[in-house]
Amino acid sequence: MNATKIEIYDTTLRDGMQGIEINFTLKDKLEITHKLDDMGIDYIEGGFPLANDKEEAFFNQMKKETLSHAKLVAFGSTRKPGGKAQQDAHIQALLNAETQAVIVVGKTWLEHVEKVLGTHPEENLEMIHDSISYLSAEGREVLFDLEHFFDGFKDNTDYALKVLQTATDAGAKTLVLCDTNGGTLPNEVTTIVGSLSGRGLASIGVHFHNDCGVAVANSLLGIYSGALQVQGTINGWGERCGNANLCAIIPNICLKTKEYTANVAANLSQLTALSRFVAEKANIIPEKRQPYVGEAAFSHKAGQHADVIAKAPQLMEHISGSLVGNTRRILLSELAGKSTIVEKLEKYGTFDKKSTQVDQLISLLKEKENAGYEYEAAEASFDLLIRKILGKYVPLVELNNYHLESFKTGNTLSKTVGRLFLTTSDNQVMGAGVGVGPVETLDQALRDAVKPFHPFIDSISLIDYKVRVLNPEEAAASKVRVFITSTDHQSNSWDTVGVSENIVEASWEAIVESFEYYYNNFVIPQ
Ligand SMILES: [Zn+2]
Repeated sequence: MNATKIEIYDTTLRDGMQGIEINFTLKDKLEITHKLDDMGIDYIEGGFPLANDKEEAFFNQMKKETLSHAKLVAFGSTRKPGGKAQQDAHIQALLNAETQAVIVVGKTWLEHVEKVLGTHPEENLEMIHDSISYLSAEGREVLFDLEHFFDGFKDNTDYALKVLQTATDAGAKTLVLCDTNGGTLPNEVTTIVGSLSGRGLASIGVHFHNDCGVAVANSLLGIYSGALQVQGTINGWGERCGNANLCAIIPNICLKTKEYTANVAANLSQLTALSRFVAEKANIIPEKRQPYVGEAAFSHKAGQHADVIAKAPQLMEHISGSLVGNTRRILLSELAGKSTIVEKLEKYGTFDKKSTQVDQLISLLKEKENAGYEYEAAEASFDLLIRKILGKYVPLVELNNYHLESFKTGNTLSKTVGRLFLTTSDNQVMGAGVGVGPVETLDQALRDAVKPFHPFIDSISLIDYKVRVLNPEEAAASKVRVFITSTDHQSNSWDTVGVSENIVEASWEAIVESFEYYYNNFVIPQ
């Protein structure tokens, strides 16, 4: 039996942008569009051309660019009540976008027709028919978005079916059933979508939101009930609780079902990189626990479990992470078994459980953990420990001294100025910085000193900083543990740790290790 091909429709650039904290510049949108195209996504919804100048500029720019696989889609609504499609600003904006496909949103729920639109049921059907038939006569592939379809269907099935039939008759290529408020449960999806087959309707698509935490499940059940297109966003971002997460839907379709496949299957190993690229553009720290593409998706805690992983990974993992471009991570802790350490050392060669390096690392790890360090979330710092044991560590800087001063006058913001002296590549240098707090100041001063000798430092940024108090009962004399996450704005991000009774000192340690990790792994020839 040949697997049925499911169309993947991405709306990250439109619905995804409605999400909290999600913002893309025009340049971001263009770059994301090309990445989605490279991935083999079938439809890319670029935005709402009438919304603002940025959206319009996006479509204007895309007129000059070509996509190798995807169809670009412009989003808009049906014409206004009482007008004509030819004269409607929304419809004209869709045409002016000059995309191969357009998606037109219309009302299905009678209460919305009457209370929100302020018109009568027949005029709503007219608006749908007029808009779709006009746009298809103008040569566009038209997808029709049925807003609040599931609520509308439950409220008045006859009317919802009339809307579907009207859009089909008008020439819509796909009828997209939208769960606009995200309130539909999986069993309802099966019943409602299943009831549409055999009615001579156009092809069905589904669009779910995650307000009940079941958007991915609903999307899959939509497919099992006959939908041939699934809509969603990268990382599941979108309004309120988000949209159906394509980073889970895509591998579920391609790896978990025998009956279905998708064009993206050929590029599945790009999925993790795509997820992180979009997160980087949105300036959002990737969700570690995200299925398939999260950093934790194929991570295992040390000890017995890691022993099994080393021998028979298929017994502990539902798929191999490499299929979606993710990697297995063995987490460290003082419970670390020797096999975990052996696996960690693999990057540097083959080591036996009985080798002295393994023993040395285990005792160093225990000593560090007793002092308050934790390496599970700071693998870059652990990598430096390994390098030190193996004699493969090249220090980037040697500190002579630093000096920081924080001050505040009246109601102005506090400021910290700092100066440091250090040795880098045999040069004695000084650096200075001004920041709001000590971490920003140290980071700036370090860059200032090192940059002339190591320009790579400019390509790295610190993106997250966390502090934990280790022994709060000691109050003012307590130790703190600092974690820093850094990125090279490509696909690499890494975490380092510092521990001290002095928060500035702990931060300094984590900052220096962040730069040294990058220096040792990506700058010095290996
Ligand atoms: Zn939506």
